[in-house]
Amino acid sequence: MQPQKTIARIVGGKVTVPHPLPPKMLYLVWYVSTLGLSDRFLLSDNRPREELISRPPPRRPNSSLFPGRSEGKSLWEHPFINTNPISFTKYNTELEISRYLDQLARSHPEVVTVFPLGRSVEGRVIKGVRVSSGGGGLKPAILLEGGIHAREWISPAVVLYVLDQLVTNRHRNAHLINATDWYFVPLLNPDGYVYSMSRDRMWRKNRAKTWRHQNTVCSGVDLNRNFGLDHAQFAALNYDPCSGIYRGPAPFSEPESRALRDFIMANRMQIKIYLSFHSFGNYILYPWGHQGAKPFDWQSLERLAMKASEAISRNSGAKYRVGSSSAMLGAAAGGSTDWVKGYAGIQYAYTIELPGGGKWGFDLPEKDIMSVSSDVFEAVKVFASFTVPESSLSRSLKNATQLFSRRIQTQKLPIGSIRLSPKMDNPKKVIWRLG
Ligand SMILES: [Zn+2]
Repeated sequence: MQPQKTIARIVGGKVTVPHPLPPKMLYLVWYVSTLGLSDRFLLSDNRPREELISRPPPRRPNSSLFPGRSEGKSLWEHPFINTNPISFTKYNTELEISRYLDQLARSHPEVVTVFPLGRSVEGRVIKGVRVSSGGGGLKPAILLEGGIHAREWISPAVVLYVLDQLVTNRHRNAHLINATDWYFVPLLNPDGYVYSMSRDRMWRKNRAKTWRHQNTVCSGVDLNRNFGLDHAQFAALNYDPCSGIYRGPAPFSEPESRALRDFIMANRMQIKIYLSFHSFGNYILYPWGHQGAKPFDWQSLERLAMKASEAISRNSGAKYRVGSSSAMLGAAAGGSTDWVKGYAGIQYAYTIELPGGGKWGFDLPEKDIMSVSSDVFEAVKVFASFTVPESSLSRSLKNATQLFSRRIQTQKLPIGSIRLSPKMDNPKKVIWRLG
C-alpha cells in the first residue's frame, strides 16, 4: 500500500484544510461548495472559507475609515458610502438599472460586456450582460432573465444581485466565472416596468398598442403568453387585448419576446441552463406549462431543482416547492420556459417564482430584497455548477467527494484526518480515507 499524506483535519464536523490549498483539492472544495457545504471548511489558520478558492482580494479602502464594513461586502452595502448607482435595499428604476449595467461594464471591462438584445415597443434598449473570464464563447453558459412581467419587481432585483455578486466579489466567486459563461437579461420588459412604477403598480404586460373594438383601446401583450410552441396552442390562448394575459396577435408579435428568442437561438448551443424569474409563490418550476404531461427527462430537471431548493433552505430556511408548471400552477401556454426547452432545445429551463408580499403579493418589502436575493444566489450556484461537464470531474473523485460530503452533512465524521495517496497530480488516483 502506498504511503499517505494527511491533507486535512476534521474536528467537530469542520474540515480544516491547508493554506494555500494543493491544486488538486480545488476540485473537491469547489464541488463541495456547489453542494452548499462550503461553510464546513476552515483554513488551517482559521481564515474564512471564502479564501479557499479565491484569487487574492483586490486592494480595498482602509477599513478603519469605514467602521463596520467587513471584508467582502460590496462598498454600497455600507451606509456611509455609496459609489454605485444601484441599491439592494430598494427597487431601482429602469434608468438606474440601465446606468448601473453600463457602469459595471466600464469598471470591469475584463469580464463584463453589455450588449443590446433589442428594443422595446417604446424604443428602450433591452440590455444583455455577459460575464466571462475568456474562452471565446466555448464554455457552457447559464442565462438569467428577469422582468418579463412588469409588476414583479423582485425579479429584476435578484438578477441584478447575482450579477453584482459575481462581478464585485470576483475574488470569492472566481470558481463560478472560470468554468461558466454568464448571461443576464435583467429587464426584458422595460416599458412595462416604467409604467408599473409611474402609472399602474399592477401592470403586467408590455406597452404594445392593441385595439379591441372601434371605440375601446387596450394596451399591452403578456410577453409570457407570446412565446409560441405551435399554432394550436397559441390559438387556445387569451385573445382579448384588454385581458392581463392577452397573448398578442401572433406568436412573437412583440419586439421584447423576439429579442429574447433571437438571442437564445444564436447561443443555444452554449446555453445549458435558462432561469426565468417571476413572482410570487416560492416555486422552482420546470416544463411543461402548456400541458399536464411532463417532459421525458423530467426527473433530471426535478433532481436539479430539488438541489437548488435545498440550497435555499440551508441558506435561510425558506421553502421553495418543486414541480412542473402545469402541476403546480395550472396549465398556461406561450411561456418562455416551454419555448426554451421545447423549441430551442435547452434541456434545463426553469421558472422561479420568488416570495410575495404586500396586499397583492407583488410588493415584497424592500427590506427583504437582500435576503431573497441571497437565497437566489445560493440556488443559482447549484444550477451553475451543473453546467460544468461531468468529465471535467473524474468519476472516482466525484464519488469520493459525494461520500465525503454526505458524511459531513450527516455529522458522522469522526475526529481525524483525510489522507491522500501521494499521486495527487492525477485526480483518478486520489484516495480519500477518513479516520
Ligand atoms: Zn410572472
